[in-house]
Amino acid sequence: PVSTESVPSLAQTTCPYCGVGCGVDITMQQEAGNTVLTSLTGTPEHPANFGRLCVKGTNLLDTNSENGRLLFPAINGERASWDEATTAIAEKMVSVIKTHGPDAVALYVSGQLLTEDYYVANKLMKGYVGSANIDTNSRLCMSSAVGAYKRAFGEDIVPCNYDDLEQTDLLILTGSNAAWTHPVLFQRMERAKRRNPDMKVVVVDPRATDSATLADFHIALKPGTDAVLFNGLLTFIAENDALDNAFIQASTNGFTDALKAAADYSVSEVAKQCDIPEHEVLAFYSLFLNSERAITFFSMGINQSNSGVDKGNAIINCHLASGKIGKAGSGPFSITGQPNAMGGREVGGLANMLAAHMDIENAEHRERVQRFWDAPTIAEKGGLKAVDLFKRINEGKVKFVWIMATNPVVSMPNRSEVEAALSKCEMVVVSDIVQKNDTLKYAHITLPATGWSEKNGTVTNSERRISRQRGLLTPPGEAKHDWQAISLVAAKLGFESAFNYQHPADIFREHAQLTAFENDRERALNLSAFNHISVAEYDNLRPVQWPVTDAAKTGTARMFENGHYFTADGKARFIAITPRLPEQQTSAEFPFVLNTGRSRDQWHTMTRTGKAAKLLKHAPHATLALHPKDREALGIEVNSLVALDSACNTGEPVILPVVEDAQLRRKTCFAPIHWSASWGSNITLGALFNGAHDPLSGQPELKHGAVNLTPANFE
Ligand code: SF4
Repeated sequence: PVSTESVPSLAQTTCPYCGVGCGVDITMQQEAGNTVLTSLTGTPEHPANFGRLCVKGTNLLDTNSENGRLLFPAINGERASWDEATTAIAEKMVSVIKTHGPDAVALYVSGQLLTEDYYVANKLMKGYVGSANIDTNSRLCMSSAVGAYKRAFGEDIVPCNYDDLEQTDLLILTGSNAAWTHPVLFQRMERAKRRNPDMKVVVVDPRATDSATLADFHIALKPGTDAVLFNGLLTFIAENDALDNAFIQASTNGFTDALKAAADYSVSEVAKQCDIPEHEVLAFYSLFLNSERAITFFSMGINQSNSGVDKGNAIINCHLASGKIGKAGSGPFSITGQPNAMGGREVGGLANMLAAHMDIENAEHRERVQRFWDAPTIAEKGGLKAVDLFKRINEGKVKFVWIMATNPVVSMPNRSEVEAALSKCEMVVVSDIVQKNDTLKYAHITLPATGWSEKNGTVTNSERRISRQRGLLTPPGEAKHDWQAISLVAAKLGFESAFNYQHPADIFREHAQLTAFENDRERALNLSAFNHISVAEYDNLRPVQWPVTDAAKTGTARMFENGHYFTADGKARFIAITPRLPEQQTSAEFPFVLNTGRSRDQWHTMTRTGKAAKLLKHAPHATLALHPKDREALGIEVNSLVALDSACNTGEPVILPVVEDAQLRRKTCFAPIHWSASWGSNITLGALFNGAHDPLSGQPELKHGAVNLTPANFE
């Protein structure tokens, strides 16, 4: 174990599942010389959850066994030492780079990594290999929101905080089933509404999810028409004298063009295009105008689209036009899916970003980062985003890939292309905690990683709050932290002195210093208060929201209160939005829209939550939800099997049992993302999506597939 912490009988850490980032109190005891985690509760004083946990967090200890863990490195299935494995990795990287250049190697990482792991991976690739081919499964989660924030605010900045959810007059949930995906935040919303009956909640979602139970009204819009709805709201604000003209004048640019682009979206036109009653549009828009404070809370339903960035900006435009931003209870609030999607964004874990929120396309930023790292090189252009990365591997252009803490064969669209890519890639390295998943079988080299309660570092939640995940248990077998594995390979590549970290605090401190480089105060991500943080201070770090500077030592709860944005002129930007249809359109042959999402009690590809019997009770297996009339028309009985197929699927159809949902829109269907071949059947939904993605963010369109449904016949 690397942790130098003493092991108390009580410790505080952070839940490893969703972007809420709940604090967790753990009690431990020594048994036969080993530390055993004996019980767990929510941390009463953690500002994300104030003692609450959802069912996933509550059952964390049941998922934490060593059963099924990957314990030793292996080369081609044969046990190897770390020295042998990392030598083989480094030698292959050197030979590929020598023959084909740095862009022929890639890392594909994960929002499960801690910020310190992410930082070291990014530093190796961008500053020492000289390629920006490091992308993350967070590309599938919130990269469209990053793009929207950067366009509007000049930097990837979440304006709001969780307290704002309790201080608002109007809460709009759009593209979010928070009741299942961010349950503790949903509990806070429920409590806020109970305490303040005047608070209104509107849920905008093609499905009536559990979150809609909190709604004063639910807008079941046609899938993919979100930007139409918010363009219409912008026009309505302008036509009803509800513009905050002083704010627009003093703090924004681009209003006229944005309004012009939205001018055609009258209430009746919006009702027509979104396929909802006109009175619902009017009621929603009137509520927005009549509410002094409003939060638009958005997530994958907005982001996983071929126009996710535009949808985010259509939302932000409405907040800028009405001045509902930079104030308590107001703002456009993107919520991340993964525990550390935000931390990855901070340290350049996306292929189009540099560390410390600096831009890869900006020569001055590149020079600063290279100088700070004392690096031999620096990537000069954005790297391959997830979908394109696997495409290029399949084309034979990328010959080495190191996958960490993610299972792209299941989670990526176009499964057949991902599998073909991994089959032909000259070297696939997989770092994981499990022995078995759908991706590991393609690995030439496997490396055992540490898991939750063994990892030691930081994560950042959806409200910019940095919290500690603490290393409490000795890693099993020969498992190592990801930052250690990367540093070992870096040393074998000849970069030992730049990767000679002894403790995650060393990495955290280095990143903090980079954010405050040359006292640059023109970027929001500023961690200068941690420039000299000691190991002891790091071990005792309390949850804190960035920026954290000498002037704001306790962090910053809300951004933009002073009307200053992080663009060149300090003003926020309106973006003119022309709504676009989803790319994967239905047809006579593929007439159903396939929507995907999470189940309440499962996490990603179930490598952890699948271990807890209690978590399988809510949904023991995957199902396909269909409107009763569609089910009848197809002649499929409830619980009988249906085959889903799509134009891009080159494998077997996906087979699922049917359940009814009378709240679904006709000709749409919904299935959960979690189950896969590792769970006993071929139900990888990614096979049905063709890899269509947002041209700006690269985020795949995973909420709008086009499929046909037929009764499954096994005779
Ligand atoms: Fe963990 Fe998210 Fe549940 Fe909190 S809401 S306990 S972070 S899964």
